[in-house]
Amino acid sequence: MLLAAPRFALPETLGEAITALADRPDATVVAGGTEVMPDLLWRTRRAEGFVSLRRVRELRGVTTTDDELVVAAGTPVAALIHVEHRALAAAATSLGTPLVRTEATIGGNVMSALPYRNLLPALLAADAALELTGPGGTRTVPFDGFVTAPGVTAIGPGELLTALRLPRHRGFADYAKVGRRNAQFVATASVAAVAAAGRVRLAFGNAGPTPVRSDAVDAVATALLDGTATPEELRAAVDAAVDPPTDPVASAEYRRHALGVLAVRLVVRAQVDAGLGS
Ligand SMILES: Cc1cc2nc3c(=O)[nH]c(=O)nc-3n(C[C@H](O)[C@H](O)[C@H](O)COP(=O)(O)OP(=O)(O)OC[C@H]3O[C@@H](n4cnc5c(N)ncnc54)[C@H](O)[C@@H]3O)c2cc1C
Repeated sequence: MLLAAPRFALPETLGEAITALADRPDATVVAGGTEVMPDLLWRTRRAEGFVSLRRVRELRGVTTTDDELVVAAGTPVAALIHVEHRALAAAATSLGTPLVRTEATIGGNVMSALPYRNLLPALLAADAALELTGPGGTRTVPFDGFVTAPGVTAIGPGELLTALRLPRHRGFADYAKVGRRNAQFVATASVAAVAAAGRVRLAFGNAGPTPVRSDAVDAVATALLDGTATPEELRAAVDAAVDPPTDPVASAEYRRHALGVLAVRLVVRAQVDAGLGS
């Protein structure tokens, strides 16, 4: 008699994890489980089996090269709090609680693909790239455009998110969010900013169905940084670029206002950091 394949795979290497996923294409990948487990509890997700990444050492750790910060996808959020990139560190610092941050991984946050998740705007502002590994090998794609709808990404069948690559950045970068309370609450609205070589790159969370950024907004933010645009102009540019939802937590109108205020706040911080502000 043939026995059914075990419903829970606990691979120890990346190769084993890829094979386990190929053997069980319907299985749910679990990293920290801080999304998957509540979803199962609340019955908003069904699972036909699991491939756990918890024992895969290759999926943990942060390394730096001359040009890049490379964060393995299974790195816990708690380990990001002191990374060199200040937007990512700040977004990690305000994610959940110490207990959640110990279990939650950067890869799980990205793969949830929900517009209110903390790390998404930080990665977009940082111009991050993603490493995806499947049976055919590894490919690298820009994070910009990877999330195609709430909860949906461009990951291929049998692929795992294996690493996130951020251009190294030692200058001003930051993240700000508003929510009903500081701890254990997802962002009602959030903004990340990265300033380099006199230019500002902003990205917005819960500002549309997917993380939002816009060249037009960045042009006005850069002009505000060097004193040739006003805060009102930046708020107007943000208002034109975003399409936030109305839900039981907040109205679209409130979110538009919050996104504009946070954007101006971060650019003013960048001005102060650059010695340009008051
Ligand atoms: C009490 C509490 C508070 C929270 N507060 C916040 C908050 O303030 N901000 C916030 O952004 N989030 C918050 N979260 C949500 C959650 O903690 C994060 O999104 C976390 O980063 C998810 O990571 P994980 O490893 O636990 O994901 P998991 O639950 O393991 O997985 C999440 C999704 O990603 C997929 N996945 C995971 N890893 C990979 C991979 N390497 N390749 C392919 N697919 C993968 C899984 O299949 C699943 O669909 C909170 C959760 C809880 C329980």
